[in-house]
Amino acid sequence: MPDTVRVRFAPSPTGFLHLGGARTALFNWAFARANGGAFILRIEDTDAIRSNVESVRAILEGLEWLGLDWDEGPSKEGKYGPYFQSERRPLYRQHVEKLLKEKKAYPCYCTSEELRERREEYIAAGKNWRYDRRCLHLVDSERERLSRERPFVLRFLIPPGLTSFYDLLRGEVSFGNVELDDFVLVKSDGMPTYNFACVVDDTTMKITHVIRGDDHLSNTPRQVLLYQAFGAEVPQFAHIPMILGKDKTRLSKRHGSPSVTYYRDQGYLPEAMFNYLIRLSWASGEEEKEVFTRHEIIERFSLDQVTLHAAVFDLDKLNWMNGLYIRETDPQRLGELLFSILKQKGKIQPGEEEEMHAYCVRVCDVMRERIRYLAQLIEEEKYYFESNVEYDQAVFEKVMFEDGVRERLEQCRKALGKIDNFSVHKLEEVVRGVAKELGIKAAKLIHPLRVAVSGKKEGPGVFDLLEVLGKERVISRLERAIRILDSRVQA
Ligand code: GLU
Repeated sequence: MPDTVRVRFAPSPTGFLHLGGARTALFNWAFARANGGAFILRIEDTDAIRSNVESVRAILEGLEWLGLDWDEGPSKEGKYGPYFQSERRPLYRQHVEKLLKEKKAYPCYCTSEELRERREEYIAAGKNWRYDRRCLHLVDSERERLSRERPFVLRFLIPPGLTSFYDLLRGEVSFGNVELDDFVLVKSDGMPTYNFACVVDDTTMKITHVIRGDDHLSNTPRQVLLYQAFGAEVPQFAHIPMILGKDKTRLSKRHGSPSVTYYRDQGYLPEAMFNYLIRLSWASGEEEKEVFTRHEIIERFSLDQVTLHAAVFDLDKLNWMNGLYIRETDPQRLGELLFSILKQKGKIQPGEEEEMHAYCVRVCDVMRERIRYLAQLIEEEKYYFESNVEYDQAVFEKVMFEDGVRERLEQCRKALGKIDNFSVHKLEEVVRGVAKELGIKAAKLIHPLRVAVSGKKEGPGVFDLLEVLGKERVISRLERAIRILDSRVQA
């Protein structure tokens, strides 16, 4: 292990932070923290058309949400900045000039049209297309003329031989250089390509370990050749398996949203997402241990325990894990999160902030054992937030159309209407008192009461439910249920 471990996460800001990217960032972060090293965030924004500031913001927000703090990067300037590739062009220029001078790179004037035609000819002749080096062999006068007449790219001259590197997860990996094209280093607009900028940055930022998705495995030999061309030290590599959907296809919307901020906005807890992501392709070796705090991860994380088989994103497992964390979380914090979700969805009216805030805390207090993510309360437990209860017809008929239910609810409405102290204790006393008066078991009253106020057969303790909903909602819902029963009798 080098003296100082330096790793980086290098996203291209062309979209949101997806789960795969977040997991790569997390492995880098954990590796840095476990080894007392530095975690660097570098924004690879050389694709001016596809990169945008909203994506940069979304990526930073996603990382901050997960608690993946970086030691150098945007708004955390360090010795090796700037940390946006678009601001590092002079460095790329210097490096490519060195390669040109040493005849390790050359300009190429072929137009995309010409390249396409030649590629088609190759394919028609049953040959594999690699750039045919037409521009490598130009005489100087021709090169000068073309430089005046055409835009050009700069290509890397791939040397003959075999390129090998050591992957910390796979061991020795080798590629025959004949497989590799004289790839483009600098595009005709002067922008560096990914492989080139990445190596210049990883070298100049003194990166010791490159931990990234195995979709980059085929780029690595090109990058290794560039390190060698610069006479720079090659970092260690670890290519981690991609995250797939349950059907073993690439993760996409079909498997649930791939965006980290989506989960934040649905009321998943960052520590649960952190825990879920770290377990994708990593295990501590302790049997049955699934739940890890950040501290435990920092103590345990090592690349030796990263597995090579593809990680499978399993929304049910994420939900299960988030549920575990929610149960352990202070209702005050949950309530604040729920409040902000409601606010974001436009469900908080001006003036009712304070009251709704306290209400959200109470809802979370009684519901946290029963939910997997906070937005579930808005999606599936609508009776907390909508003025009218949506009655499921089958449930309503089964519970409410029993003889005597109307009378029971009416008595209950009257008794509850008389009290102002809607506390669990008082509510229990009153409701049990009504049952006693009617000469029925409390359950005979509690079931229809629950259905009347929530539309559901199951839920938290009914007295908790009544307390949280409060007098106004409870009474108006009882009145409405009674009206529905009356209209049925008349019909
Ligand atoms: N910008 C590249 C990506 O987002 C970085 C790959 C790397 O880590 O080298 O895939």
